[in-house]
Amino acid sequence: MSNHVTLSPNNNLRKKSEDDIPWYNPEMIQDNAAESQKKLLRACTVSITLICIELVGGIIANSLAIVSDAVHVMIDVVGFLLAAWAVS
Ligand SMILES: [Zn+2]
Repeated sequence: MSNHVTLSPNNNLRKKSEDDIPWYNPEMIQDNAAESQKKLLRACTVSITLICIELVGGIIANSLAIVSDAVHVMIDVVGFLLAAWAVS
């Protein structure tokens, strides 16, 4: 808590410092990488479930829109996996 000048009880006028930037500390970024990866892989799980439901529903309903969205979510999964790889 360095460089802080508290001017009001609710800290509205507190001077900004490095302590206000949570991503400033490289060690903190390293600590959060595993957790970020876990969240991204959880998002993959949810998305793959959605893809399966949309593919089945879209084919049953003969809806190109729903099948197209399943393909869109597949691209999202590729993005999640790239992000999970990037933070490792
Ligand atoms: Zn998307």
